[in-house]
Amino acid sequence: MAPSGPGSIRRRCRRVLYWIPVVFISLLLGWSYYAYAVQLCIVVCLMAYHLLFAMFVWSYWKTIFTLPMNPSKEFHLSYAEKDLLEREPRGEAHQEVLRRAAKDLPIYTRTMSGAIRYCDRCQLIKPDRCHHCSVCDKCILKMDHHCPWVNNCVGFSNYKFFLLFLAYSLLYCLFIAATDLQYFIRFWTNGLPDTQAKFHIMFLFFAAAMFSVSLSSLFGYHCWLVSKNKSTLEAFRSPVFRHGTDKNGFSLGFSKNMRQVFGDEKKYWLLPIFSSLGDGCSFPTCLVNQDPEQPSTPAGLNSTAKNPENHQFPAKPLRESQSHLLTDSQSWTESSTNPGKGKAGMSNPALTMENET
Ligand SMILES: [Zn+2]
Ligand SMILES: [Zn+2]
Repeated sequence: MAPSGPGSIRRRCRRVLYWIPVVFISLLLGWSYYAYAVQLCIVVCLMAYHLLFAMFVWSYWKTIFTLPMNPSKEFHLSYAEKDLLEREPRGEAHQEVLRRAAKDLPIYTRTMSGAIRYCDRCQLIKPDRCHHCSVCDKCILKMDHHCPWVNNCVGFSNYKFFLLFLAYSLLYCLFIAATDLQYFIRFWTNGLPDTQAKFHIMFLFFAAAMFSVSLSSLFGYHCWLVSKNKSTLEAFRSPVFRHGTDKNGFSLGFSKNMRQVFGDEKKYWLLPIFSSLGDGCSFPTCLVNQDPEQPSTPAGLNSTAKNPENHQFPAKPLRESQSHLLTDSQSWTESSTNPGKGKAGMSNPALTMENET
């Protein structure tokens, strides 16, 4: 039998409470359907309304129920390494164990102090852009934030769904507000028959207008984040690379940043179907693409022997699945071949620093 102490009961209660925002949005959505499709019932608009409603529900559902991805096995420490880590005191020896374990992993980011990023809780080396979520109690790949409105972590596996959820919910609210406006005006000028529909029409407009304002600012912010290839967490605290902090370290230019989230095939862009590029564990950076030191492990390791400053953090190549992002499609490498489009990369101060070695 499972232990059922006060701790586990409290945990179960908390887990139930986390669903309240989702239930709230679902009820609101259900009511808006009733108010619009049953009470307001503008026949010509109903087709467009149902399309938006379906896309809203579909993307919301996918954002809620897509499990966040956790780091793959290779990022977990072996029993021997865990044992060694437990015996070593914190500090340089501790780091040495982690450095050896991270030797062949495609990681470029470090902690503020320049150490390997390690999660004590999950006992793993954190891949780039991965963070530990205290609510989920797990390390989440490319974690963006934990969203109470979907009771799920928004990260690599569902970020595209989250963006579409924001977009469709905004369109849904704007559509309702726009088509309900004339009835709303008639409500205040006493031009509406005195039925129960009157109040639905009034509240429908209020709710749609209110949510339109908050959703448009949130959606605008996330569009900016995608265009800069940043997560919400990275917008608050810039990632730290071997050479130091770089707020645009993962940015590959607008079009590539967009495609990293939405994928290469345009037909999937507007549908909540997973099409993001990569594996979530490693991410191409313009620094890697341009850095002659990076392409092969032996060269990277040799140069670290010559340069004591680099010794602590040997350069590693991108794994196969990731390097295709930079090399497979021509456009991924255009920044190094096309001088016009490469300007963004060349003017990146971080790139200059990377080439100094
Ligand atoms: Zn963790
Ligand atoms: Zn979470």
